[in-house]
Amino acid sequence: MATPDYYNMLGISRKATPDDIKKAYRRLALRWHPDRNPGDDTAEQHFKDITAAYACLSDGEERTRYDRLGPLYQPDGRPPRPEELNEVLGTVWGNLWGRRKKARGEDLRYTVSLPLEDVATGCERSIRIPRQVRCKTCGGDGAQPGNGRVTCDVCEGSGRAKGVRLFRSDCYHCEGRGYRIVHRCEPCNGAGIRSIDDAVVVKVPAGVATGQKLKLTGKGNEPGDPGPAGDLFVVINVEEHTLFRRRGEDVLVEMPLTFSEMALGADISVPTLEGVTTIRVPAGTAPGRVFRLSNRGLPAVGRTARGDLHLEAVLTVPSDLTPAQREALAAWADTLSDASHPQRQSFDRHVQERR
Ligand SMILES: [Zn+2]
Ligand SMILES: [Zn+2]
Repeated sequence: MATPDYYNMLGISRKATPDDIKKAYRRLALRWHPDRNPGDDTAEQHFKDITAAYACLSDGEERTRYDRLGPLYQPDGRPPRPEELNEVLGTVWGNLWGRRKKARGEDLRYTVSLPLEDVATGCERSIRIPRQVRCKTCGGDGAQPGNGRVTCDVCEGSGRAKGVRLFRSDCYHCEGRGYRIVHRCEPCNGAGIRSIDDAVVVKVPAGVATGQKLKLTGKGNEPGDPGPAGDLFVVINVEEHTLFRRRGEDVLVEMPLTFSEMALGADISVPTLEGVTTIRVPAGTAPGRVFRLSNRGLPAVGRTARGDLHLEAVLTVPSDLTPAQREALAAWADTLSDASHPQRQSFDRHVQERR
């Protein structure tokens, strides 16, 4: 861990005399002492931090070492490790002269499941999403309106650290705000934000696929501090369908047909994404034949042209024939010559040649 800016913590300049250091510590220790702030974790942390800062800066030798090493200073006197050097160079150094960044609320994610039928047409979904919004009572700063905040006496309201700013430019005691909160806003208990269940309408365009994200700008969490809200990302999940399988913009349906339907031909009611239609299966249809209904598939997002619906003929064979049915079927088969099944005839011929 990089050592933080002890001068900033005590709210003093780098030229402070031992007496200035003692006075600053005494004043801040009174303010942040745990006995005076029971149950306040922030106050407890501040108290620990200023005490560590005082322990270093009030010792002439340690102070000299701290002034020389800056963020690489270690209270136990050991030399800094390589990863500590990296951290200091990468983060502290990078933020050295940086201003306080504007807070931005977090992005949120929400998954919407929809059937393939809704993908074909596009749809609207009302969702309830738990999100955080800025408290209306305090406007987000967490202070009770009127008497909730006082000017920070360490930075005198500037929000900036005193003296040469080696580490960070924000005042440690007010985090750069320039004021401190002395009375918390009641509705949000000082958080500046409140949790609500927000009703959001999501417009899902036709043609979406599983894993695609829709971005709803500004519908994520709002930060308490001034700054923009995050975004809401709605993740699409297209449900598995019992009938339809998706192949890009085309949709595939297996169409089970009986042997007599395939041999004799039949009008078959088939499902489409919109409902039902009838197709004519011609006599002599072989299993695996695909009937294509053009423009009955899915559109690509932002397009109106649609893919096709593919109906694949699948032979369904009965497995529970009665003795009478078996006899009838065998009798019928006997009436056929080999030429009735030319594919089988050719197959048998090839087998014969291999003997
Ligand atoms: Zn509030
Ligand atoms: Zn301050």
